[in-house]
Amino acid sequence: MKSDIEIAQSAQMWNIGDVAKTIGIESDDLEFYGKYKAKISDELIERTKTRPDGKLILVTAINPTPAGEGKTTTSVGLGQAFGKLGKKAILALREPSLGPCFGIKGGAAGGGYAQVVPMEDLNLHFTGDFHAITSANNLLAALLDNHIQQGNELGIDPRQIVWKRCLDMNDRVLRNVVVGLGNKMDGMVREDHFVITVASEIMAILCLADDMDDLKKRLGRIIVAYNFEGKPVTAADLQAVGSMAALLKDAMKPNLIQTLEHTPALVHGGPFANIAHGCNSVRATKTALKLADYVITEAGFGADLGAEKFLDIKCQMAGLHPDAVVLVATIRALKYNGGVAKDALSEENLEALQKGIVNLEKHIENLQKYGVPVVVTLNSFVTDSAQETAFVENFCKERGCEFALSEVWEKGGEGGIALANKVLETLETKQSDYHPIYEKQMSLKEKIETIAREIYGAKDVSYSAAAEKELNRITELGMGDFPVCMAKTQYSLSDDPKKLGRPTGFTLNVREVYVSAGAGFVVAINGSIMTMPGLPKKPAAHGIDVSSDGVITGLF
Ligand code: ADP
Ligand code: MG
Repeated sequence: MKSDIEIAQSAQMWNIGDVAKTIGIESDDLEFYGKYKAKISDELIERTKTRPDGKLILVTAINPTPAGEGKTTTSVGLGQAFGKLGKKAILALREPSLGPCFGIKGGAAGGGYAQVVPMEDLNLHFTGDFHAITSANNLLAALLDNHIQQGNELGIDPRQIVWKRCLDMNDRVLRNVVVGLGNKMDGMVREDHFVITVASEIMAILCLADDMDDLKKRLGRIIVAYNFEGKPVTAADLQAVGSMAALLKDAMKPNLIQTLEHTPALVHGGPFANIAHGCNSVRATKTALKLADYVITEAGFGADLGAEKFLDIKCQMAGLHPDAVVLVATIRALKYNGGVAKDALSEENLEALQKGIVNLEKHIENLQKYGVPVVVTLNSFVTDSAQETAFVENFCKERGCEFALSEVWEKGGEGGIALANKVLETLETKQSDYHPIYEKQMSLKEKIETIAREIYGAKDVSYSAAAEKELNRITELGMGDFPVCMAKTQYSLSDDPKKLGRPTGFTLNVREVYVSAGAGFVVAINGSIMTMPGLPKKPAAHGIDVSSDGVITGLF
Protein backbone atom coordinates (compact mmCIF):
# COMPACT_ATOMS: atom_id res chain seq x y z
CA MET A 1 0.00 0.00 0.00
CA LYS A 2 1.34 3.42 -0.97
CA SER A 3 1.64 6.17 1.62
CA ASP A 4 -0.62 9.23 1.46
CA ILE A 5 2.14 11.40 0.06
CA GLU A 6 3.09 8.80 -2.57
CA ILE A 7 -0.52 8.60 -3.74
CA ALA A 8 -0.76 12.40 -3.80
CA GLN A 9 2.50 12.77 -5.72
CA SER A 10 1.49 10.25 -8.38
CA ALA A 11 -1.86 12.01 -8.99
CA GLN A 12 -2.56 13.49 -12.42
CA MET A 13 -3.78 16.91 -11.35
CA TRP A 14 -5.82 19.05 -13.70
CA ASN A 15 -4.94 22.64 -14.25
CA ILE A 16 -6.99 24.46 -11.60
CA GLY A 17 -8.68 26.53 -14.31
CA ASP A 18 -10.15 23.32 -15.75
CA VAL A 19 -11.40 22.21 -12.33
CA ALA A 20 -13.05 25.63 -11.90
CA LYS A 21 -14.81 25.27 -15.27
CA THR A 22 -16.67 22.18 -14.03
CA ILE A 23 -18.58 24.47 -11.64
CA GLY A 24 -18.93 27.33 -14.07
CA ILE A 25 -16.02 29.51 -12.89
CA GLU A 26 -14.08 31.22 -15.67
CA SER A 27 -10.35 32.02 -15.49
CA ASP A 28 -11.14 35.73 -15.13
CA ASP A 29 -12.58 35.01 -11.71
CA LEU A 30 -9.48 33.20 -10.49
CA GLU A 31 -6.22 34.52 -9.10
CA PHE A 32 -3.68 31.82 -9.90
CA TYR A 33 -1.02 30.69 -7.44
CA GLY A 34 0.87 28.46 -9.88
CA LYS A 35 -0.93 25.77 -11.90
CA TYR A 36 -2.86 23.97 -9.20
CA LYS A 37 -4.01 26.59 -6.70
CA ALA A 38 -6.12 29.67 -7.15
CA LYS A 39 -8.02 32.19 -5.11
CA ILE A 40 -11.63 33.07 -5.93
CA SER A 41 -12.23 36.70 -6.89
CA ASP A 42 -14.40 38.98 -4.78
CA GLU A 43 -16.40 39.79 -7.94
CA LEU A 44 -17.47 36.16 -8.36
CA ILE A 45 -18.61 36.03 -4.74
CA GLU A 46 -20.64 39.22 -5.22
CA ARG A 47 -22.15 38.10 -8.53
CA THR A 48 -23.33 34.72 -7.29
CA LYS A 49 -24.91 36.00 -4.06
CA THR A 50 -28.47 35.91 -5.36
CA ARG A 51 -28.31 32.30 -6.53
CA PRO A 52 -30.19 29.64 -4.54
CA ASP A 53 -28.17 27.62 -2.03
CA GLY A 54 -27.14 24.00 -2.48
CA LYS A 55 -27.49 21.46 0.32
CA LEU A 56 -25.11 21.80 3.28
CA ILE A 57 -23.68 18.56 4.69
CA LEU A 58 -21.52 18.61 7.81
CA VAL A 59 -18.98 15.84 8.42
CA THR A 60 -18.10 15.28 12.07
CA ALA A 61 -16.89 12.37 14.21
CA ILE A 62 -16.87 10.55 17.53
CA ASN A 63 -14.10 11.32 20.04
CA PRO A 64 -10.87 10.58 18.21
CA THR A 65 -7.65 8.69 18.78
CA PRO A 66 -4.52 10.86 18.48
CA ALA A 67 -4.23 9.89 14.77
CA GLY A 68 -7.60 11.39 13.76
CA GLU A 69 -10.63 9.42 12.65
CA GLY A 70 -10.83 10.28 8.99
CA LYS A 71 -13.28 13.20 8.80
CA THR A 72 -11.26 14.91 6.09
CA THR A 73 -10.74 11.57 4.33
CA THR A 74 -14.49 10.88 4.49
CA SER A 75 -15.41 14.41 3.38
CA VAL A 76 -13.10 14.22 0.38
CA GLY A 77 -14.24 10.70 -0.49
CA LEU A 78 -17.88 11.71 -0.24
CA GLY A 79 -17.22 14.62 -2.58
CA GLN A 80 -15.54 12.25 -5.02
CA ALA A 81 -18.45 9.80 -4.73
CA PHE A 82 -20.98 12.54 -5.57
CA GLY A 83 -18.85 13.17 -8.65
CA LYS A 84 -19.07 9.49 -9.62
CA LEU A 85 -22.85 9.72 -9.33
CA GLY A 86 -22.86 12.71 -11.68
CA LYS A 87 -23.81 15.20 -8.95
CA LYS A 88 -22.38 18.68 -8.69
CA ALA A 89 -20.56 18.78 -5.35
CA ILE A 90 -17.90 20.94 -3.77
CA LEU A 91 -15.88 20.68 -0.57
CA ALA A 92 -15.40 23.43 2.01
CA LEU A 93 -12.50 22.51 4.27
CA ARG A 94 -9.98 24.05 6.63
CA GLU A 95 -6.34 24.77 5.86
CA PRO A 96 -3.85 22.70 7.85
CA SER A 97 -1.67 24.15 10.60
CA LEU A 98 2.06 23.47 10.80
CA GLY A 99 1.63 22.50 14.48
CA PRO A 100 0.09 19.05 13.89
CA CYS A 101 2.03 18.59 10.60
CA PHE A 102 5.28 18.48 12.55
CA GLY A 103 3.74 17.10 15.75
CA ILE A 104 1.66 13.93 16.15
CA LYS A 105 -1.30 14.05 13.86
CA GLY A 106 0.22 15.00 10.52
CA GLY A 107 -1.39 17.07 7.78
CA ALA A 108 -5.01 17.61 6.89
CA ALA A 109 -5.40 16.77 3.22
CA GLY A 110 -7.35 13.54 3.80
CA GLY A 111 -5.76 10.15 3.20
CA GLY A 112 -5.35 7.18 0.88
CA TYR A 113 -7.38 7.64 -2.32
CA ALA A 114 -9.46 10.42 -0.79
CA GLN A 115 -7.17 13.43 -0.66
CA VAL A 116 -7.02 17.00 -1.83
CA VAL A 117 -3.95 17.95 -3.82
CA PRO A 118 -1.32 19.37 -4.06
CA MET A 119 -0.98 17.93 -0.54
CA GLU A 120 2.57 19.19 0.20
CA ASP A 121 1.63 22.77 -0.70
CA LEU A 122 -1.58 22.59 1.30
CA ASN A 123 0.15 21.17 4.37
CA LEU A 124 3.10 23.57 4.29
CA HIS A 125 2.76 27.22 3.17
CA PHE A 126 -0.20 26.94 0.75
CA THR A 127 -1.23 30.43 -0.39
CA GLY A 128 0.23 32.21 2.62
CA ASP A 129 -3.05 32.84 4.47
CA PHE A 130 -1.68 31.71 7.84
CA HIS A 131 1.41 33.88 7.40
CA ALA A 132 -0.86 36.86 6.72
CA ILE A 133 -2.93 36.08 9.83
CA THR A 134 0.20 35.69 11.95
CA SER A 135 1.53 39.00 10.61
CA ALA A 136 -1.71 40.87 11.28
CA ASN A 137 -1.85 39.44 14.81
CA ASN A 138 1.73 40.43 15.56
CA LEU A 139 1.39 43.84 13.97
CA LEU A 140 -1.32 44.58 16.51
CA ALA A 141 0.99 43.37 19.31
CA ALA A 142 3.81 45.57 18.03
CA LEU A 143 1.54 48.62 17.82
CA LEU A 144 0.34 47.95 21.35
CA ASP A 145 3.81 47.73 22.88
CA ASN A 146 4.93 50.73 20.85
CA HIS A 147 1.98 52.74 22.13
CA ILE A 148 3.11 52.11 25.69
CA GLN A 149 6.71 52.95 24.82
CA GLN A 150 5.69 56.23 23.17
CA GLY A 151 3.97 57.63 26.25
CA ASN A 152 0.88 55.44 26.68
CA GLU A 153 -1.71 58.09 25.92
CA LEU A 154 -4.52 55.52 26.24
CA GLY A 155 -3.43 54.66 29.77
CA ILE A 156 -3.05 50.95 29.01
CA ASP A 157 -2.42 48.98 32.18
CA PRO A 158 0.57 46.74 31.31
CA ARG A 159 -0.72 44.20 33.85
CA GLN A 160 -4.01 43.93 31.96
CA ILE A 161 -2.82 43.30 28.42
CA VAL A 162 -4.88 40.45 26.97
CA TRP A 163 -3.59 40.44 23.38
CA LYS A 164 -1.07 37.68 22.73
CA ARG A 165 1.49 37.21 20.00
CA CYS A 166 1.12 34.14 17.75
CA LEU A 167 3.04 31.66 15.65
CA ASP A 168 1.87 28.70 13.55
CA MET A 169 4.06 26.19 15.36
CA ASN A 170 3.84 23.85 18.35
CA ASP A 171 6.34 25.63 20.56
CA ARG A 172 5.69 25.27 24.29
CA VAL A 173 8.51 27.60 25.44
CA LEU A 174 6.58 30.54 24.00
CA ARG A 175 3.54 30.02 26.24
CA ASN A 176 4.93 32.40 28.85
CA VAL A 177 7.72 34.81 27.95
CA VAL A 178 9.12 38.12 29.10
CA VAL A 179 9.39 40.87 26.49
CA GLY A 180 11.07 44.26 26.59
CA LEU A 181 14.25 43.21 28.41
CA GLY A 182 17.22 45.51 27.86
CA ASN A 183 17.34 49.25 28.36
CA LYS A 184 14.79 52.05 28.13
CA MET A 185 14.74 52.03 24.33
CA ASP A 186 13.89 48.31 24.24
CA GLY A 187 10.32 48.75 25.49
CA MET A 188 8.47 48.17 28.75
CA VAL A 189 9.31 44.88 30.44
CA ARG A 190 6.25 42.69 30.84
CA GLU A 191 5.09 39.11 30.81
CA ASP A 192 3.76 38.09 27.38
CA HIS A 193 2.29 34.96 25.82
CA PHE A 194 2.06 33.26 22.45
CA VAL A 195 -0.86 31.24 21.09
CA ILE A 196 -0.72 29.05 17.99
CA THR A 197 -2.02 31.00 14.97
CA VAL A 198 -5.04 28.70 14.62
CA ALA A 199 -6.14 29.78 18.12
CA SER A 200 -5.73 33.52 17.49
CA GLU A 201 -8.73 35.81 17.36
CA ILE A 202 -7.59 37.04 13.93
CA MET A 203 -8.08 33.51 12.60
CA ALA A 204 -11.58 33.39 14.09
CA ILE A 205 -12.39 36.83 12.70
CA LEU A 206 -11.18 35.95 9.22
CA CYS A 207 -13.31 32.81 9.30
CA LEU A 208 -16.46 34.58 10.51
CA ALA A 209 -16.24 37.83 8.52
CA ASP A 210 -18.70 38.22 5.67
CA ASP A 211 -16.64 40.67 3.62
CA MET A 212 -13.95 43.36 3.93
CA ASP A 213 -16.28 45.80 5.69
CA ASP A 214 -17.32 43.21 8.23
CA LEU A 215 -13.67 42.17 8.66
CA LYS A 216 -12.69 45.75 9.51
CA LYS A 217 -15.56 46.19 11.95
CA ARG A 218 -14.57 43.01 13.73
CA LEU A 219 -10.87 43.90 13.80
CA GLY A 220 -11.74 47.28 15.31
CA ARG A 221 -13.70 45.66 18.15
CA ILE A 222 -10.82 43.43 19.33
CA ILE A 223 -10.06 44.13 22.99
CA VAL A 224 -6.29 44.24 23.39
CA ALA A 225 -6.03 45.42 27.00
CA TYR A 226 -7.80 47.30 29.78
CA ASN A 227 -6.74 50.78 30.89
CA PHE A 228 -5.97 51.87 34.46
CA GLU A 229 -9.69 52.54 34.95
CA GLY A 230 -10.51 49.00 33.88
CA LYS A 231 -12.12 50.08 30.58
CA PRO A 232 -11.40 48.09 27.39
CA VAL A 233 -8.83 49.35 24.89
CA THR A 234 -9.49 48.14 21.34
CA ALA A 235 -7.56 47.68 18.12
CA ALA A 236 -9.50 50.65 16.77
CA ASP A 237 -8.18 52.77 19.68
CA LEU A 238 -4.66 51.78 18.59
CA GLN A 239 -5.45 52.78 14.98
CA ALA A 240 -4.45 49.30 13.87
CA VAL A 241 -7.45 48.36 11.71
CA GLY A 242 -6.44 49.62 8.27
CA SER A 243 -2.98 48.13 8.26
CA MET A 244 -4.18 44.79 9.63
CA ALA A 245 -6.93 44.63 7.01
CA ALA A 246 -4.37 45.43 4.30
CA LEU A 247 -2.30 42.44 5.43
CA LEU A 248 -5.41 40.25 5.29
CA LYS A 249 -6.70 41.40 1.89
CA ASP A 250 -5.74 38.27 -0.04
CA ALA A 251 -6.14 35.93 2.91
CA MET A 252 -9.87 36.82 2.82
CA LYS A 253 -10.26 35.11 -0.56
CA PRO A 254 -11.16 31.40 -0.54
CA ASN A 255 -8.59 29.03 -2.09
CA LEU A 256 -9.58 26.54 -4.78
CA ILE A 257 -7.81 23.18 -5.17
CA GLN A 258 -8.99 19.70 -6.24
CA THR A 259 -9.41 16.15 -4.98
CA LEU A 260 -7.57 13.21 -6.53
CA GLU A 261 -10.68 12.83 -8.74
CA HIS A 262 -10.84 16.57 -9.58
CA THR A 263 -13.78 17.49 -7.35
CA PRO A 264 -13.40 21.20 -6.57
CA ALA A 265 -12.46 22.06 -2.98
CA LEU A 266 -12.55 25.45 -1.29
CA VAL A 267 -9.96 25.27 1.47
CA HIS A 268 -10.00 28.37 3.59
CA GLY A 269 -9.21 29.32 7.18
CA GLY A 270 -8.30 26.85 9.87
CA PRO A 271 -9.14 27.41 13.53
CA PHE A 272 -8.58 24.31 15.67
CA ALA A 273 -11.73 22.87 17.23
CA ASN A 274 -10.29 22.15 20.69
CA ILE A 275 -9.00 25.67 21.38
CA ALA A 276 -10.94 27.70 18.79
CA HIS A 277 -14.20 27.41 16.82
CA GLY A 278 -13.07 24.70 14.43
CA CYS A 279 -14.67 25.52 11.05
CA ASN A 280 -13.48 26.81 7.67
CA SER A 281 -14.43 30.37 6.67
CA VAL A 282 -18.01 31.53 6.36
CA ARG A 283 -17.00 33.14 3.08
CA ALA A 284 -15.91 29.80 1.62
CA THR A 285 -18.99 27.95 2.85
CA LYS A 286 -21.40 30.58 1.56
CA THR A 287 -19.62 30.77 -1.79
CA ALA A 288 -19.61 26.98 -2.06
CA LEU A 289 -23.39 26.92 -1.49
CA LYS A 290 -23.80 29.15 -4.57
CA LEU A 291 -21.48 27.12 -6.78
CA ALA A 292 -22.72 23.56 -6.36
CA ASP A 293 -25.76 21.50 -5.41
CA TYR A 294 -24.01 19.72 -2.53
CA VAL A 295 -21.51 21.29 -0.16
CA ILE A 296 -19.55 19.00 2.13
CA THR A 297 -17.87 20.69 5.05
CA GLU A 298 -15.91 19.41 8.02
CA ALA A 299 -15.69 20.63 11.61
CA GLY A 300 -12.69 19.64 13.72
CA PHE A 301 -12.18 16.85 16.25
CA GLY A 302 -15.24 15.15 17.78
CA ALA A 303 -18.83 16.35 17.43
CA ASP A 304 -18.74 17.62 21.04
CA LEU A 305 -16.29 20.31 19.89
CA GLY A 306 -16.36 20.93 16.13
CA ALA A 307 -20.00 20.15 15.40
CA GLU A 308 -21.24 21.95 18.51
CA LYS A 309 -19.42 25.12 17.48
CA PHE A 310 -20.39 24.74 13.83
CA LEU A 311 -24.05 24.46 14.85
CA ASP A 312 -24.09 26.96 17.73
CA ILE A 313 -21.61 29.58 16.51
CA LYS A 314 -20.91 29.47 12.79
CA CYS A 315 -24.37 28.58 11.49
CA GLN A 316 -26.00 31.07 13.87
CA MET A 317 -23.70 33.95 12.97
CA ALA A 318 -23.74 33.26 9.24
CA GLY A 319 -27.40 32.32 8.93
CA LEU A 320 -26.56 28.87 7.59
CA HIS A 321 -29.03 25.99 7.67
CA PRO A 322 -27.36 22.56 7.59
CA ASP A 323 -29.34 19.84 5.84
CA ALA A 324 -27.59 16.69 7.11
CA VAL A 325 -24.76 15.52 9.35
CA VAL A 326 -22.42 12.63 8.57
CA LEU A 327 -21.00 11.20 11.79
CA VAL A 328 -17.73 9.34 11.21
CA ALA A 329 -16.86 6.44 13.49
CA THR A 330 -13.95 4.05 13.32
CA ILE A 331 -13.62 0.71 14.99
CA ARG A 332 -10.19 1.83 16.18
CA ALA A 333 -11.56 4.88 17.98
CA LEU A 334 -14.45 2.91 19.44
CA LYS A 335 -11.98 0.39 20.86
CA TYR A 336 -9.82 3.25 22.11
CA ASN A 337 -12.91 4.62 23.85
CA GLY A 338 -13.37 1.12 25.27
CA GLY A 339 -9.98 1.38 26.95
CA VAL A 340 -7.63 -0.32 24.43
CA ALA A 341 -4.07 1.10 24.25
CA LYS A 342 -3.05 3.02 21.11
CA ASP A 343 -0.66 0.30 19.91
CA ALA A 344 -3.22 -2.54 20.20
CA LEU A 345 -6.04 -1.00 18.15
CA SER A 346 -5.42 -3.23 15.13
CA GLU A 347 -6.31 -6.43 16.96
CA GLU A 348 -9.89 -7.69 16.93
CA ASN A 349 -11.53 -6.93 20.27
CA LEU A 350 -15.31 -7.18 20.37
CA GLU A 351 -15.44 -6.69 24.10
CA ALA A 352 -13.68 -3.32 23.92
CA LEU A 353 -15.83 -2.34 20.95
CA GLN A 354 -18.97 -3.08 22.93
CA LYS A 355 -17.64 -1.01 25.80
CA GLY A 356 -16.56 1.93 23.65
CA ILE A 357 -19.62 2.17 21.41
CA VAL A 358 -21.41 4.24 24.06
CA ASN A 359 -19.31 7.12 22.74
CA LEU A 360 -20.98 6.82 19.32
CA GLU A 361 -24.37 6.50 21.02
CA LYS A 362 -23.88 9.78 22.88
CA HIS A 363 -22.81 11.65 19.74
CA ILE A 364 -25.87 10.37 17.83
CA GLU A 365 -28.14 11.58 20.65
CA ASN A 366 -26.33 14.94 20.76
CA LEU A 367 -26.65 15.62 17.05
CA GLN A 368 -30.32 14.69 17.11
CA LYS A 369 -30.85 17.49 19.63
CA TYR A 370 -30.06 19.99 16.86
CA GLY A 371 -32.82 18.65 14.63
CA VAL A 372 -30.50 17.77 11.74
CA PRO A 373 -30.79 14.29 10.14
CA VAL A 374 -27.78 12.08 11.00
CA VAL A 375 -26.05 9.43 8.87
CA VAL A 376 -23.44 7.33 10.67
CA THR A 377 -20.56 6.12 8.56
CA LEU A 378 -17.91 3.63 9.50
CA ASN A 379 -14.57 4.66 8.03
CA SER A 380 -13.27 1.22 7.21
CA PHE A 381 -9.68 0.22 8.05
CA VAL A 382 -8.08 -2.91 6.59
CA THR A 383 -7.56 -4.16 10.16
CA ASP A 384 -11.32 -4.13 10.95
CA SER A 385 -12.79 -7.62 11.25
CA ALA A 386 -16.10 -8.57 9.60
CA GLN A 387 -17.59 -9.26 13.03
CA GLU A 388 -16.58 -5.85 14.33
CA THR A 389 -18.08 -4.11 11.30
CA ALA A 390 -21.33 -6.06 11.63
CA PHE A 391 -21.55 -5.13 15.29
CA VAL A 392 -21.39 -1.39 14.57
CA GLU A 393 -23.85 -1.67 11.69
CA ASN A 394 -26.36 -3.53 13.89
CA PHE A 395 -25.90 -1.05 16.70
CA CYS A 396 -26.92 1.79 14.39
CA LYS A 397 -29.81 -0.12 12.80
CA GLU A 398 -31.23 -1.03 16.20
CA ARG A 399 -31.37 2.68 17.01
CA GLY A 400 -33.11 3.56 13.77
CA CYS A 401 -30.04 5.46 12.62
CA GLU A 402 -28.97 5.67 8.98
CA PHE A 403 -25.73 3.77 8.38
CA ALA A 404 -23.27 3.29 5.53
CA LEU A 405 -19.82 1.74 5.31
CA SER A 406 -17.18 4.00 3.76
CA GLU A 407 -14.18 2.61 1.92
CA VAL A 408 -12.96 5.85 0.42
CA TRP A 409 -9.46 5.63 1.88
CA GLU A 410 -8.88 2.37 0.00
CA LYS A 411 -11.00 2.96 -3.11
CA GLY A 412 -11.52 6.70 -3.51
CA GLY A 413 -14.93 7.93 -4.76
CA GLU A 414 -15.99 4.40 -5.72
CA GLY A 415 -15.70 3.40 -2.04
CA GLY A 416 -18.01 6.23 -1.03
CA ILE A 417 -20.97 5.51 -3.30
CA ALA A 418 -22.95 3.68 -0.60
CA LEU A 419 -22.46 6.64 1.72
CA ALA A 420 -23.29 9.19 -0.98
CA ASN A 421 -26.50 7.32 -1.81
CA LYS A 422 -27.44 7.16 1.87
CA VAL A 423 -26.84 10.91 2.20
CA LEU A 424 -28.89 11.64 -0.94
CA GLU A 425 -31.73 9.47 0.32
CA THR A 426 -31.62 11.25 3.69
CA LEU A 427 -31.68 14.68 2.05
CA GLU A 428 -34.71 13.64 0.01
CA THR A 429 -36.71 11.98 2.75
CA LYS A 430 -35.79 13.81 5.95
CA GLN A 431 -36.38 17.49 6.57
CA SER A 432 -33.78 19.33 8.63
CA ASP A 433 -35.30 21.16 11.56
CA TYR A 434 -32.01 22.78 12.56
CA HIS A 435 -31.87 24.89 15.71
CA PRO A 436 -29.04 25.67 18.15
CA ILE A 437 -28.80 24.03 21.58
CA TYR A 438 -29.02 27.34 23.47
CA GLU A 439 -30.66 30.73 23.02
CA LYS A 440 -28.75 33.97 22.56
CA GLN A 441 -30.46 35.67 25.49
CA MET A 442 -29.44 33.04 28.04
CA SER A 443 -26.67 34.15 30.43
CA LEU A 444 -23.11 33.10 29.65
CA LYS A 445 -23.19 30.65 32.54
CA GLU A 446 -26.46 29.15 31.35
CA LYS A 447 -24.91 28.66 27.91
CA ILE A 448 -21.81 26.98 29.32
CA GLU A 449 -23.96 24.79 31.55
CA THR A 450 -26.30 23.84 28.70
CA ILE A 451 -23.35 22.65 26.58
CA ALA A 452 -21.78 20.89 29.58
CA ARG A 453 -24.96 19.00 30.53
CA GLU A 454 -26.62 18.43 27.17
CA ILE A 455 -23.58 17.74 24.99
CA TYR A 456 -20.81 16.58 27.33
CA GLY A 457 -23.05 14.80 29.82
CA ALA A 458 -21.60 16.66 32.82
CA LYS A 459 -23.28 16.63 36.25
CA ASP A 460 -22.31 20.22 36.97
CA VAL A 461 -19.88 23.02 36.19
CA SER A 462 -17.34 24.69 38.47
CA TYR A 463 -15.70 28.05 37.84
CA SER A 464 -12.35 29.38 39.03
CA ALA A 465 -12.53 32.72 40.83
CA ALA A 466 -10.85 34.39 37.84
CA ALA A 467 -13.40 32.87 35.44
CA GLU A 468 -16.32 34.06 37.61
CA LYS A 469 -14.91 37.57 37.68
CA GLU A 470 -14.33 37.68 33.95
CA LEU A 471 -17.82 36.38 33.16
CA ASN A 472 -19.23 39.25 35.24
CA ARG A 473 -17.01 41.81 33.54
CA ILE A 474 -17.95 40.56 30.05
CA THR A 475 -21.64 40.69 30.95
CA GLU A 476 -21.26 44.22 32.32
CA LEU A 477 -19.53 45.23 29.08
CA GLY A 478 -22.74 44.24 27.29
CA MET A 479 -21.43 41.07 25.66
CA GLY A 480 -23.47 38.57 27.66
CA ASP A 481 -25.47 37.65 24.56
CA PHE A 482 -22.40 36.25 22.75
CA PRO A 483 -22.19 32.53 22.04
CA VAL A 484 -19.60 30.53 23.98
CA CYS A 485 -16.58 28.96 22.30
CA MET A 486 -15.59 26.03 24.48
CA ALA A 487 -11.93 25.00 24.68
CA LYS A 488 -11.24 21.52 26.03
CA THR A 489 -9.55 18.23 25.24
CA GLN A 490 -10.69 16.46 22.07
CA TYR A 491 -10.14 12.99 23.51
CA SER A 492 -13.06 12.92 25.92
CA LEU A 493 -16.60 14.22 26.13
CA SER A 494 -15.43 15.64 29.48
CA ASP A 495 -12.51 18.01 30.18
CA ASP A 496 -10.32 15.08 31.26
CA PRO A 497 -8.61 13.23 28.37
CA LYS A 498 -8.56 10.02 30.43
CA LYS A 499 -12.36 9.80 30.79
CA LEU A 500 -13.15 7.81 27.65
CA GLY A 501 -16.39 6.30 26.36
CA ARG A 502 -19.43 8.09 27.73
CA PRO A 503 -18.44 9.61 31.06
CA THR A 504 -21.14 10.64 33.54
CA GLY A 505 -21.27 12.33 36.93
CA PHE A 506 -18.29 14.58 36.24
CA THR A 507 -17.81 18.29 36.88
CA LEU A 508 -16.61 20.51 34.02
CA ASN A 509 -13.93 22.89 35.29
CA VAL A 510 -14.01 26.35 33.72
CA ARG A 511 -10.50 27.59 34.43
CA GLU A 512 -10.27 30.75 32.37
CA VAL A 513 -12.64 32.94 30.38
CA TYR A 514 -11.99 35.74 27.91
CA VAL A 515 -13.95 37.60 25.32
CA SER A 516 -13.07 37.69 21.63
CA ALA A 517 -15.09 40.82 20.96
CA GLY A 518 -14.11 40.94 17.29
CA ALA A 519 -14.96 37.32 16.62
CA GLY A 520 -18.10 37.83 18.67
CA PHE A 521 -17.80 34.99 21.14
CA VAL A 522 -16.67 34.28 24.69
CA VAL A 523 -13.97 31.63 25.06
CA ALA A 524 -14.23 29.29 28.06
CA ILE A 525 -11.11 27.26 28.75
CA ASN A 526 -11.98 23.98 30.46
CA GLY A 527 -9.52 21.65 32.17
CA SER A 528 -5.85 21.88 31.31
CA ILE A 529 -6.10 22.57 27.55
CA MET A 530 -3.35 24.83 26.12
CA THR A 531 -3.74 27.47 23.42
CA MET A 532 -0.10 26.85 22.47
CA PRO A 533 0.50 23.11 22.04
CA GLY A 534 3.90 21.42 22.44
CA LEU A 535 5.67 18.82 20.33
CA PRO A 536 5.67 15.14 21.38
CA LYS A 537 8.75 13.09 22.20
CA LYS A 538 8.91 11.79 18.61
CA PRO A 539 7.71 14.68 16.44
CA ALA A 540 6.61 13.97 12.86
CA ALA A 541 9.21 16.57 11.86
CA HIS A 542 11.94 13.97 12.41
CA GLY A 543 10.61 11.96 9.46
CA ILE A 544 10.18 14.81 6.96
CA ASP A 545 12.75 15.54 4.27
CA VAL A 546 13.21 16.98 0.80
CA SER A 547 15.40 15.43 -1.92
CA SER A 548 17.95 17.30 -4.03
CA ASP A 549 15.37 17.50 -6.83
CA GLY A 550 12.74 19.00 -4.54
CA VAL A 551 10.53 16.00 -3.73
CA ILE A 552 9.16 16.12 -0.19
CA THR A 553 8.87 12.90 1.83
CA GLY A 554 7.51 11.98 5.23
CA LEU A 555 4.46 14.26 5.30
CA PHE A 556 1.28 12.37 6.14
P1 ADP B 1 -9.54 13.81 10.69
O1 ADP B 1 -9.95 14.75 9.62
O2 ADP B 1 -10.70 13.16 11.36
O3 ADP B 1 -8.62 14.41 11.68
P2 ADP B 1 -8.02 12.54 8.59
O4 ADP B 1 -9.00 12.35 7.51
O5 ADP B 1 -7.07 13.68 8.47
O6 ADP B 1 -8.73 12.61 10.01
O7 ADP B 1 -7.23 11.18 8.76
C1 ADP B 1 -6.19 11.04 9.70
C2 ADP B 1 -5.16 10.04 9.21
O8 ADP B 1 -5.73 8.75 9.17
C3 ADP B 1 -4.63 10.32 7.81
O9 ADP B 1 -3.23 10.15 7.81
C4 ADP B 1 -5.30 9.26 6.93
O10 ADP B 1 -4.49 8.85 5.87
C5 ADP B 1 -5.52 8.13 7.91
N1 ADP B 1 -6.74 7.39 7.56
C6 ADP B 1 -7.99 7.89 7.46
N2 ADP B 1 -8.87 6.93 7.13
C7 ADP B 1 -8.14 5.78 7.03
C8 ADP B 1 -8.48 4.42 6.72
N3 ADP B 1 -9.73 4.07 6.45
N4 ADP B 1 -7.49 3.51 6.70
C9 ADP B 1 -6.21 3.86 6.99
N5 ADP B 1 -5.83 5.12 7.30
C10 ADP B 1 -6.77 6.08 7.31
MG1 MG C 1 -9.48 16.78 9.36
